[in-house]
Amino acid sequence: MGSAFNLGRFFGIQVRLHYTWFIIFVFITVSLSWQYFPFAYPTWSHLIYWVVGIVTSLLFFASVLAHELAHSLVGRANGVTIKSITLFIFGGVAQMTREATRASAELKMAAAGPACSLAIGGLFGLLWVLTRGILEPLAAMASWLALVNVVLAVFNLIPGFPLDGGRVFRSILWRATGNYGRSTRIATRVGQGVGYLFIVAGILIIFLVRDMWFSGLWLAFIGWFLENAASASYRQAQWREALGAFTAADVMTSDYPVVPADSTVSELVQGYVIPSGRRFFVVADDDRLQGIVTLHNIKSAPQQDWDVTPVRQIMTPVNELKVAYPDQDALGVMEQMDGNDINQIPVVSEGRVVGLVARDRLIRFLRTRSELGI
Ligand SMILES: [Zn+2]
Repeated sequence: MGSAFNLGRFFGIQVRLHYTWFIIFVFITVSLSWQYFPFAYPTWSHLIYWVVGIVTSLLFFASVLAHELAHSLVGRANGVTIKSITLFIFGGVAQMTREATRASAELKMAAAGPACSLAIGGLFGLLWVLTRGILEPLAAMASWLALVNVVLAVFNLIPGFPLDGGRVFRSILWRATGNYGRSTRIATRVGQGVGYLFIVAGILIIFLVRDMWFSGLWLAFIGWFLENAASASYRQAQWREALGAFTAADVMTSDYPVVPADSTVSELVQGYVIPSGRRFFVVADDDRLQGIVTLHNIKSAPQQDWDVTPVRQIMTPVNELKVAYPDQDALGVMEQMDGNDINQIPVVSEGRVVGLVARDRLIRFLRTRSELGI
C-alpha cells in the first residue's frame, strides 16, 4: 500500500494510517455529527453533536485498531511475525512477513479479531446499560459503538478469504485435508463469490431502495475490493504452490551485470546503468561477492563526487546482505524477499555469486511454464 502516515508502535507493532483513512474518518465524523446524532437526539446543542461525533469516530477507529492488534498479538504468540498494521478506507490490515505454517495458528489468529470486536461491543453495550437515561450523549455513543463493533465482527466472519471468516474457513479445510494450497484456492474462490454478491446487492439497492443509493454504492465498493483481494490471494496461492517444486538454482538467472568493487560510481553509471537500464547490480571481484549496488545507493552519493567515489563505498556490503543458496527451495526465497521488501537476491555458493533471483523473473518463469503446460 502506498503513502501512509506513521502513528507509532503498539506492543512493538508499527501502526500506520493510509491517506484514505483520513477520508473515511472525516466522512464518519461528519455523518455522525451532522446526521445520525441530530436525527436520533434532536435536543442536543451543536457543540455536543460535534464533540460526541468526533469522540465516537475516534473510538470507532480505536476499535478497528484493537481488532487488528488482536490478530497481530495472537499471531505473534503463535509464531507468525507481524511487521505492521495499516488502517485504511475499508478498515485495517496487518502485514505479515509470512503466513501461518500451522492450521491451528491460523485459526486462532483469524478468530482473535472478531472475538475482540465482540468483546468491545459487549463492553460498550454494558456502558450503554449503565448510562442510559442518566447521561444521554455517553449512552448514545456507547450504543452506536456497541452496534458497530458487533456488525464489524459479524461482517468479518463471512467465510470468504481474505476476510477473517475466510481464514477460519481455510484453516478448517486445511486441517481436514492437510492441503494448504487447495484450501486456499477454495476459500479465495468463495471470497470472490462473496465479493460479486456484494456488488450485485449494492447495485440492486442503488436502483430499488429509496434513499439508500449511498449505502448501495458503498456495499458495491466493498464487494469490488473484496473480489480484488480474493483474486490476488488466489494467484498468490497458485504461485506458491508452483514454486514449491523448484529450488533457487532452478529459478535463478545468470544474466546479470557484475561490477568490480573498485570501479568508480561514474564508471558504474556510464558503463552499466545507462546502457542496461537496470537498477540493481552485483558487486564482485573474481566472482567473490562483495555487495550489491542499486540506483538508491548511487543517488545517495553527491554527483560531484561520482568520479572519485569507488562503488565499494556506496554499495550494501555482503555482511549486511540477504543471500540465497542454490539448493534452497524457491518458495523460501520468495518469502525471504517478501519479508525484507526486496526484489532481487543474489544466490551464493561458498562465497561466490552463482546467480540472481529476481521477483519479476520468478513470475515470468512460472508464467512461461504454465503457458507451455510443463
Ligand atoms: Zn480481522
